[in-house]
Formats: sequence, C-alpha cells, structure tokens
Amino acid sequence: DLDTVVMPLPLISTSRRERRWSDTSSYATNKKLQSWFQLPNGNWELGKILSTSGTESTISLPDGKVLKVKTESLVPANPDILDGVDDLMQLSYLNEPSVLYNLQYRYNRDMIYTKAGPVLVAINPFKEVPLYGNNYIEAYKNKSMESPHVYAITDMAIREMIRDEVNQSIIISGESGAGKTETAKIAMQYLAALGGGSGIEYEILKTNPILEAFGNAKTLRNDNSSRFEALDIVHVSKENQESVFAMLAAVLWLGNVSFSVVDNENHVEPMEDEGLTTVAKLIGCNVGELKLALSTRKMRVGNDTIVQKLTLSQAIDTRDALAKSIYSCLFDWLVEQVNKSLAVGKRRTGRSISILDIYGFESFERNSFEQFCINYANERLQQHFNRHLFKLEQEEYIQDGIDWAKVEFEDNQDCLNLFEKKPLGLLSLLDEESTFPNGTDLTFANKLKQHLNSNSCFRGERGKAFSVSHYAGEVTYDTTGFLEKNRDLLHLDSIQLLSSCSCHLPQIFASNMLIQTEKPIVGHLYKAGGADSQKLSVATKFKGQLFQLMQRLENTTPHFIRCIKPNNSPSPGSYEQGLVLQQLRCCGVLEVVRISRCGFPTRMLHQKFARRYGFLLLENVASQDPLSVSVAILHQFNIMPEMYQVGYTKLFFRTGQIGVLEDTRNRTL
Ligand code: ADP
Ligand code: MG
Repeated sequence: DLDTVVMPLPLISTSRRERRWSDTSSYATNKKLQSWFQLPNGNWELGKILSTSGTESTISLPDGKVLKVKTESLVPANPDILDGVDDLMQLSYLNEPSVLYNLQYRYNRDMIYTKAGPVLVAINPFKEVPLYGNNYIEAYKNKSMESPHVYAITDMAIREMIRDEVNQSIIISGESGAGKTETAKIAMQYLAALGGGSGIEYEILKTNPILEAFGNAKTLRNDNSSRFEALDIVHVSKENQESVFAMLAAVLWLGNVSFSVVDNENHVEPMEDEGLTTVAKLIGCNVGELKLALSTRKMRVGNDTIVQKLTLSQAIDTRDALAKSIYSCLFDWLVEQVNKSLAVGKRRTGRSISILDIYGFESFERNSFEQFCINYANERLQQHFNRHLFKLEQEEYIQDGIDWAKVEFEDNQDCLNLFEKKPLGLLSLLDEESTFPNGTDLTFANKLKQHLNSNSCFRGERGKAFSVSHYAGEVTYDTTGFLEKNRDLLHLDSIQLLSSCSCHLPQIFASNMLIQTEKPIVGHLYKAGGADSQKLSVATKFKGQLFQLMQRLENTTPHFIRCIKPNNSPSPGSYEQGLVLQQLRCCGVLEVVRISRCGFPTRMLHQKFARRYGFLLLENVASQDPLSVSVAILHQFNIMPEMYQVGYTKLFFRTGQIGVLEDTRNRTL
C-alpha cells in the first residue's frame, strides 16, 4: 500500500557540471521517506512526503507546516540511520543537499573531518576543537581511534611508506583561509611526535614560522620579533641574516620611491631623495644605475638598441615589479637555506612523506590569468587523483576475488589537451601572442576563438572572454591583462641591474631570473621586448614548475585532504550552505564520491550483513554460515545480480542498494 513514485533526480540546470554531479539513477520515494526541498534563499529543508498526486506532492516540515510542492523539485533524503556517517560514500542517495546536511551534522558536533571516499574533507572550525594533542596522537598510532582525521591520513601514509617502500605525499588544497596550512602543521605534528620530538620532523616544524613570516602578509604586518622569524635554529648565518633584513628594507624603501615629470611628453624620473639613495645603498648599486633602470627601457630594433623613456604608470609598474621580484627571490633563497640546513649531516632513510599545501580550484565572478594558472594546475592534480583512485579500487576488488568490469569515469584529458597542445593550445597561443609587439588581449581572445572552437572544452565568449569546461565546472576567463601578466613586467634592465649589484645575495638574483639556455625548462622560449637574452613567459615557467611537481608526485602514493571554509566572517559555529556547496563543487568532492560509487562502493563483511538482515529471511537459517545467509537474503529481496558482487570476505554493492534493504528492515522492525 505504499504509494511509490519513481522519479529521476531533478536536473536543476542542464549545464555539464550539474549533470555530472547529479545521480542519474532512478530511485523510488515513498511517503515514509524524507525528502529535501529548496527554500527560496537556496538553503535546503528536510520534509516528509505526505502524499503524491500527479506532478504535485504534499510535504510536512519539522515545524509542522504543510506545503504543496512540485514533485520533481524534491530530492530524496537518506534514512536516519545514515545521519552523520563518517564517509560520504555510505550515503544511499548522493546529492548535494544530503552531502551538505551530513557535513553540517558532523560540524555541529565538532566532527570537522569526514571522508569522501579516499579523500579527507576538513571543515575549518575557526575555534579550538578537542581533537589534537598527545592522547589523540597515541590513539591513532595504536589504532584505538579510527574516525576520520588528519592524524589517520598521516598514519596511513607512514604505514604505506614502510609497507610498500614507496614515497608518500599528502596533498592539501582549498581556498585561502580554509585551513590548509593549519592542516599541514597538524600532519607534521603527528610526524614529529612519531619521530620522538628530536627528529628531522621537529626541525621541519620549526622552519614553519620562518617561511610563514615571509609568505604571509599578515604576519609580516604584525612584526613578531621572536621569530627572527627562528633563523638561528635553521642555521642561517648572522651575515646572511643581515642580508635578508637589508633586502627586506630595500623592498620597503622601494615603495617610497616617487617620480617627477621631466619633459613635455610626460616621461618621468625617480626623485633623488632618501628613498632612492637608501635602496641603491641596500642593494649595492650606484644611484645613477638605479635611476636609469626605473625610468628607461632598452629595446632592440633590428641591430640597434634604442632607449625608451617611461611614463609615470610604466615607471610605477617597473618599480613595483622590481620590489616583487626581490621579495620572491628572497623567499626562494630562504627555502633553499632551510632545505640545506635540514640536510646537513642528517641520516636519510631514502623514503619521504611530502606535504603539499596548494591552492584549490577557483571560480569567481571575474577570473583572470591567476585563476587560469591555478585551475590548469588543478586539472593536472585531478588527473593524478583519478588515476590513483581507480588503481586503489581495482586492487581491493582483485584482493577479494570479485568479477571486475572496467569502471568508466570522465577523464579530463581533453581539458588538459586544450591547455597543453602545441601549437594550438591555450598556453602556446598565449605565448605566441605575448611575443607579438602588436598583440593585445583582444587579438589573443580572437585567436583562441579562431583556433580552439572545435575543442569541446572550449567556448568563445563575447568580447575578450572565453570559457573552459573544467572538471569542477565551467569557468569564464576575462583576458584583460593576460598578455602583460604573462610577459612578466620585470624588464631586462632591472634584471641586469640586480645581477650586477654588490648586495650580499647577487647569486640568487642571477640564478633565479635569467634563464639558463643550456637547461631549458618545458616549452618554448619567449623573447622579452626583443632584447638580447631570452626570458621565459610566466605561463611557461608555471607549466615547467607544475611538471616538476607532478613528476615528484608521480613517484609517491598520494593522500588527499580538501579544506573547506564554512563562512567568510570568520566565526565558529556558522555554516553557510551556499558557500560550502560552492567549495565542494570546486574541489570535486561530489565528483570523487560519484566516481568512487561507479564501482561497488558499499562493502559489508558477510558476518555483519547476515546479522543485520538475516532476521528478514522467511526460512530459518540460524545454523548456516554467514556467506550462505547473505546469499539467501540477496535472493529473497531480488537484488539484481549486476547490483552486487560476492567477495571472499565481503559483499560489494552498487550505490543505493543498502538503502533499499535498510528501508525494508525499518518497516519490519
Ligand atoms: P589557509 O592556509 O588555507 O589559507 P590557514 O591554515 O592559515 O588557512 O587557516 C586560517 C585560520 O583558520 C587559522 O589561522 C586558524 O585560526 C583557523 N583554523 C584552520 N584550521 C583549524 C583547525 N583545525 N583548528 C582550529 N582552527 C583552525
Ligand atoms: Mg596557508
């Protein structure tokens, strides 16, 4: 007497993203089931279906209100037994409201960690949560605690490193402020504790404040002297410390350099004041050279070199580019020092666990060159992730001896080709246009439309824009500023100035800024301003670094942590569904769960299955072994053979099957 309706999950939009993230399988709802419906503000509310007639359903809300709604706007909710499961794969109905609810349920109880298949989701609590420290570390070490945690992931990495003798990596991604760096520190805490507090892990932990102080603008602003920013501990010599401070001071003083107009064509020169002279002194060049570098640009036309004077805005850009590059070289140098210091006289086992704290996929109202690079990197990471995920799945199936049919998944090779193909890919075309003196953002956009329209991941948009279908959704990029950002504002005059100056760290500038033609990175070379030496474009440099990173990761077993920021305030206890959902989409959490569920994501040991559902059997099976009981249950409930596999130790089910059995069990109990 159940009035059951079969309905496809509503496809809210027909965009590729929505389609891929929806569960396309049909399922039944009945009036005993709870259902989600969306409020006008976008949030989801749980209701009970009272009745369904035609295209309309009547539902009751927890506060007693009764509403008539379109049946197709309802999204099925999971049975109560699945409230707050610690792995999203266990959800019978995988849809956005169910995932949001599950994470919120746990978050409200300070359970900030949840598994999404092989991925750990971490929601920033913005307050101290009682989940860390020696007792917890002990508990995860001796496996008396198994709920999802950074410690658990780190522990797994250690065990796998020892068991398989393979290097490991922990890849942490998420928006700014989502908790990536905290998470990395928590992982290191675990490693340091296992190292007994004296190992290399401890020293690595100590290097954190140094790198953070330089890499983090906020910390720099609240200048915290006790950190000096720790430089002794990692054995940076007093002399080099002096140089570091001198370079920092130079960056600050550069900000004070101002310009005055010197002719009637609006060309400028830096004022010869305290700012300019101090910078020159700190970096060790004479004032004249610095003045020239900040007010002119050498161009090569045919065989002649001409000197072009700069206007105010060009001069300001040049000055800022110089400051930025001093700072970034300083940071690179510091990383090198830290690495050197850690390597001195240390015994190495040859195996490592790398922790990667990296920006996640970004999709804003307006997306520029930065998002373009970040999202490209995330496509690569996603491909790495997919490959790994399917390897794991297959291993488990084979171990338990089940029939293994290939799982299909949406692979993102097309999108990567769109970026990387030569000569007609996004990166190649960008570099090509960047070398043309007359190239503009508009000519670049037009060229993309002309050459790439046949790629299914590309769409030309109006004006200077284009869209890319990323694994995590479609992003529209505005090409304004692309060429300039890709060319890199630092002109050769500044580079030459820095590499010839007598500051204490000239070797960093020399090695980091000029390309070494005998060791080309990936991709073709790009000539800056037609000048003599060649310089890599930013995109090509980025791609080269990305390839190096991927190569390193390729030789490791990866473990993934996705950090989520639950509100922008930031404040504890506030969970904004829309904000969380957008991040879940961007870091592909639903996608991961969906992919994982393509196989047989629900697993239950024969014993447990027999205990839980055995009483539903019509015949008495008390004397039989768990495997036979399990098979009898499957037969009695007409679970279709393609919906499950019987392994040596476990039953493997396709998505949603346990939900059906669970419903029957609840009605019977
Ligand atoms: P990200 O590196 O992603 O930009 P951070 O790791 O710096 O973000 O985290 C931002 C802030 O959020 C931290 O300063 C801290 O206040 C808070 N936070 C992040 N993770 C945790 C956590 N596990 N427990 C408590 N607070 C946290
Ligand atoms: Mg950070």
